[in-house]
Amino acid sequence: MNREYWRKGVEAFKEIHFKKHEKDFIEMVKKGQHPKALFIGCSDSRVVPSLITNTGPGELFVMRNVGNFVPPYKPDNDFHATAAAIEYAAFNLQVDEVIVCGHSDCGACKALYKDHSAYAEEVPHTIKWLELGMPAKMLAEQSVPDGDKAQLQEATEKFSVIFQLQNLLTYPNVRRRVMEGTLFLHGWYYRLDTGEIEYFDPENQEFLPLIGEAE
Ligand code: ZN
Repeated sequence: MNREYWRKGVEAFKEIHFKKHEKDFIEMVKKGQHPKALFIGCSDSRVVPSLITNTGPGELFVMRNVGNFVPPYKPDNDFHATAAAIEYAAFNLQVDEVIVCGHSDCGACKALYKDHSAYAEEVPHTIKWLELGMPAKMLAEQSVPDGDKAQLQEATEKFSVIFQLQNLLTYPNVRRRVMEGTLFLHGWYYRLDTGEIEYFDPENQEFLPLIGEAE
């Protein structure tokens, strides 16, 4: 462990950020957390949920995994981290919103186009997990027939967000609350190189810039 590296970071946190939020932390320990939203994002180190939304402690309940995928509801007595986070946020915490945030240059979406057979035994969970991106890949290949790689990549990343939103609706608590109008689902697309975020507009079936829209 590079102790010096981590020590500096933890020191800076204690001195700057913890001090800044100290009262909030103490208050939130007393009263518990009441986050506004469940944020489902990619584990990619370049996607930093609190940074891109300018939110502080207590505002976002975050679930990050490879590819920001949402496995369909499947109560089979196995271990399901993403499903548990969804249930906890939608039922126990009663969040108002769920944001599924995809992003540009996503390694998981790129991996959908690669052959992993040579090292399949090394990464069995990853290969299985990537199946959740396959419907997006198939749709992207149909929609971008001329083989433009950048277009294909972006289409895969964006279609995947839409498929993950559909998978969210397989969770009974999520579906019920969406039908009641007490829970709202959002699909976002974050561009790493510009910092821009687009949201999915279900009426027009397109992604639009989040900034600059009339309220
Ligand atoms: Zn990613």
